[in-house]
Amino acid sequence: MNYEAVYKRSIQDRDAFWHEQAARIEWHKPHEQVCDHSSPPFTKWFAGGQTNLCHNAVDRHVPHRPDQPALIFVSTETGTEQIISYGQLFVEVQRMAAILRNMGVGKGDRVLIYMPMIPQAVIAMLATVRLGAIHSVVFGGFASHSLASRIDDARPKVVVSADAGSRGGKVIAYKPLLDEALTLSQHKVEHVLMVNRGLVPCVMVPNRDVDYASVRQDVLDAIVPCEWVDATHPSYTLYTSGTTGKPKGVQRDTGGYAVALAASMDHIYCGKPGETFFCASDIGWVVGHSYIVYGPLLTGMSTIIYEGLPIRPDAAIWWLLVEKYQVNVMFSAPTAIRVLRKQDPQCLKRHNLSSLKHLFLAGEPLDEPTARWIGDAIGKPIVDNYWQTETGWPILSLARGIDPSAQPRLGSPGVPMLGYQVKLLDDLTGEELTQPNQKGVLTIEGPLPPGCMQTVWGDDERFVKTYWRSFKNKEVYNTFDWGIRDEDGYYFILGRTDDVINVAGHRLGTREIEEAVSSHSAVAEVAVVGVADEVKGQVARAFVVPRDASRVADEPGRRALEAEIMQTVDRQLGAVARPARVYFVNVLPKTRSGKLLRRAIQAVCEGRETGDLTTIEDPSALQQLQDAVKH
Ligand code: AMP
Repeated sequence: MNYEAVYKRSIQDRDAFWHEQAARIEWHKPHEQVCDHSSPPFTKWFAGGQTNLCHNAVDRHVPHRPDQPALIFVSTETGTEQIISYGQLFVEVQRMAAILRNMGVGKGDRVLIYMPMIPQAVIAMLATVRLGAIHSVVFGGFASHSLASRIDDARPKVVVSADAGSRGGKVIAYKPLLDEALTLSQHKVEHVLMVNRGLVPCVMVPNRDVDYASVRQDVLDAIVPCEWVDATHPSYTLYTSGTTGKPKGVQRDTGGYAVALAASMDHIYCGKPGETFFCASDIGWVVGHSYIVYGPLLTGMSTIIYEGLPIRPDAAIWWLLVEKYQVNVMFSAPTAIRVLRKQDPQCLKRHNLSSLKHLFLAGEPLDEPTARWIGDAIGKPIVDNYWQTETGWPILSLARGIDPSAQPRLGSPGVPMLGYQVKLLDDLTGEELTQPNQKGVLTIEGPLPPGCMQTVWGDDERFVKTYWRSFKNKEVYNTFDWGIRDEDGYYFILGRTDDVINVAGHRLGTREIEEAVSSHSAVAEVAVVGVADEVKGQVARAFVVPRDASRVADEPGRRALEAEIMQTVDRQLGAVARPARVYFVNVLPKTRSGKLLRRAIQAVCEGRETGDLTTIEDPSALQQLQDAVKH
């Protein structure tokens, strides 16, 4: 098929196109309207329809593929491998649903999931949506303050957690972080359901904490039917960073999300029922929600849940899994590939990769050398895809499921995916840039296609104000990314327009990190910027003005305070947000009106020209920064 023709139809004959796509999932009640866009920028997809995400991900496959693996759990951290068939998953999800129901969880209630990459995390997600409740998964790498702010915003009835995760052989206890978060939060959580893996001793709080293994014994025969919900009923919220310190709860619907994911599995990822999908991400990120859990399961595929690093026990581990489980589609992030590139190249040759069709990479820019290297090393097409927590599935990629001959263009994530009306706008005038090779802000004209965010949880106004602007009577969604389009319609992403940085594919707000650093009593002022890094894409660097300069007068003093500040960030936000370096200066470069000159700081760190600095208040500030970095 011809991509251009199908894409055009998805825009010009939008309702007919998505009406057809809706047949990919099962409905309890069919929709009355495909797209209700009567109150822009809000969009209701498949209004009047009723369905259930768990029914489509689990129940409907049971008659056809009861013994096929649904979840393939591999932990190189604990040396565990476990296969859970669709039939077994059906039983386990109902047990988990019964436990949650007994704790009072019903339609619309929130369940917060703070867990490592273990099957029970996926089972908890599925059980939640089975009940018509709304899950909010918090990445296990986040620490108590991040967790507490999400608990206060989501106000969950139940938190599902585990004693510990493990990374690179190091056990990370989750329970103390959770206990601290529950003390910090205003919202009082009634029940905590604990999966005890036996990795660390776990202190249970009476009348609040419940041991999963024990209560599971009471519900072995549980039958919990799916709660049919409106297509527009929220299935989950997922918090993500923006310009301000407070993360936003991206709210996703049920019907539109299921349809969009099912379509993307076919059009983009070329995943077929009965095949195996290996997405080496984490359920704490949107990629994990869409392509570890829902996308593969909606399609009737087997999905690999991997707890571990790509280089342990050695850099052949992923490829060993590809051979062993006959993986057909693989998905990862460029950072992981750059890590592999530093390892023994023989590791990539040890295993038979004949089952593998494609390797998809997303989450951060895919540089040409990395793309070329991995493509040569595994001899498979490497397909970049660009999207965001907000959109839930790719905005730009290649639709190889529609046109298998579509060729990747190095450095570009590709072309607009079905239903996305991508536009580049001039940042200042808001005019659409129609000529090739003009740099502008990448936007999407409303309505956003199915599967994209409905709103910011509990804050419609923030959704409208943050993301939308009106241009010539049209509503456009701002991705906050700079982009450029070449003569052939391929887009290139040139980084964020806001204060968000991307460290190893993890999205972090510099403001959040600044708030954590500022909470250290020795810090008077701080600026955090993202700086280019060979492996992680970007890393955070902090510039601190100390309250008492004598503390950083010598190298041991500087080192000691740097370590303390890093620990503060670890404790509050988690090690993912830890700045790679903390530098000390007497003054930060600011404009005369007091605005921090972040771009100039970033330029100094990357050894680039700082650009126009006529508005700088104290020109010596930049020299100080330069000296600190050189030091
Ligand atoms: P997240 O919401 O965590 O998925 O982060 C989304 C952001 O990551 C986007 O706004 C981009 O800045 C960046 N991003 C994601 N995928 C890509 C890609 N394939 N190429 C370049 N940047 C990407």
